[in-house]
Amino acid sequence: MRQRKHSWTNSIKNFFVSWLICSFIFGLLFTFIFIQHKESEKAAVRSMAERVLFDLESQLDIVDEFLRQSGSFDTQCSDDTIRHIRQFVFKTPAVSEIGIVTPRGDLVCNSFGVLAKPMYLSEPIKKRGLRYHGPIISEFLQVPAFVLSRTRHDGYEVNALLPTDWINDTLHLRKYKALDFVAVVDTDTGVPVFLQGRYSLPLNRKIFPLRRSIEMEGLFDDQSHKYLYIKPFNSVPRLAVVVSKPARYLGMPNPLWLLVLCLLYMASWAGLVVLLNYYDKRLLSSRTLLLDAINRAELFNVYQPLVNAQNQQVEGVEVLIRWMHPLEGELGPAYFVPEAERDGTILELSLYQIDLALRNLKPILVENSHFKVSFNVNGFLLMCPSYIKKLCEAKAVFNNLTIELTERDVLSEAKIKLILKELVDMGIEIAIDDFGTGYSGLQYLQSFPIDLLKIDQSFVASIGLDNLQSPVLNAVIEMAEKLDKKLIAEGVETAQQAHYLLERGVSVHQGWHYYKALNINDLKRVL
Ligand code: CA
Ligand code: CA
Repeated sequence: MRQRKHSWTNSIKNFFVSWLICSFIFGLLFTFIFIQHKESEKAAVRSMAERVLFDLESQLDIVDEFLRQSGSFDTQCSDDTIRHIRQFVFKTPAVSEIGIVTPRGDLVCNSFGVLAKPMYLSEPIKKRGLRYHGPIISEFLQVPAFVLSRTRHDGYEVNALLPTDWINDTLHLRKYKALDFVAVVDTDTGVPVFLQGRYSLPLNRKIFPLRRSIEMEGLFDDQSHKYLYIKPFNSVPRLAVVVSKPARYLGMPNPLWLLVLCLLYMASWAGLVVLLNYYDKRLLSSRTLLLDAINRAELFNVYQPLVNAQNQQVEGVEVLIRWMHPLEGELGPAYFVPEAERDGTILELSLYQIDLALRNLKPILVENSHFKVSFNVNGFLLMCPSYIKKLCEAKAVFNNLTIELTERDVLSEAKIKLILKELVDMGIEIAIDDFGTGYSGLQYLQSFPIDLLKIDQSFVASIGLDNLQSPVLNAVIEMAEKLDKKLIAEGVETAQQAHYLLERGVSVHQGWHYYKALNINDLKRVL
């Protein structure tokens, strides 16, 4: 069929349509996964920052708590005071030294004992609250340390030294893989006080001074795209933890996931192409097309009159099928019946044809109950119980019912003989269509219940011509006479042919000489 020719362009179209659909769906899916993943990774970065903050701040809180209590210390550095601060240094890993400074700025004692000669540092700041400075190198331990201090009501200052090693250990990047850097930053100036990793945060006025936690994503001074999270300490708001992660890794699912997603994408694409092609094929398959045409009543019957040549009376009709195709116009059976025979749609087609003939011809039968009606049948149809049932229905209406079979159909199945016998018992007449064109012997004519032979139009066409087929026609006529079979001549196109046949006793003709196949309205008019 013509639609088949479009299958290539259809395949290409399906290929692109599938690609578009899959790309759209997987694009959305990937974007969703990307965003989800990115958010969860950001949350992971924030939780790392919280962990660092917690580790540091839990120690700072202990130190601060101690410094608050130091208001009750004996500033003369009694043995009790020294013991007390030593005990604290001993049990607090973050603290290496505690010192007491007079309002004039002299360090008078520390956890090592009372200084023989006070050491001038600097006058304590009058401001209340916890302060930090450093890192400094402690005179006593000679290690870099970070100083936390509080000024008491009496102007004395108590301070605690936290070795930077301890802070660095707490910050250590190895614990937080994939982070760019972890830093403790002075939130007023933006200067990192402690740092692990490659710090690249600018001293941005927009960020510092910092009062609350912020997150941001952008291009940094080192030309890399980063995600950043900063959160100030609760106990020392001048300090904040800053963590950063390269943004190019944010949101990117792991390669295995990507591979699975790609494979799924390809598989869906291929699957969709196959599905669309299958659907197209189904849509274009002759069976579907024909069944749709039947449902849309695009198929209709035409009736080829059987004319008695002696009196020119129409004795009956052979029922033929046509298709009023919406695009291609009226199609003869040669365009769709062979395909329907191959895929079995001939059954639905034939059932529909009988129903239609019953509707069309009923008024004619009221006028002429002996009106002959002939259907073309094949071996396959005779093996279908639903078709036989339909024939019985037809027989109840058409008194003079004939079925036309070719020699090949008659001989196709052993069971056919029994079925034909049953049909004959019901009063249905069996005709051999296109008689003389088969290559089988003629014995079946005696063993099968056959009444009627339809002489093929090729023999009729040979009348008056001197060719190989002309003598065969005469032989067929003679044989039919001897076997007592009725004859109908098909394809009678000229008066000469009609005359010749009539002379030899073949009186029932069909062909253009009389009528073409007529639609029901024309048939009614003719009758
Ligand atoms: Ca026929
Ligand atoms: Ca025929």
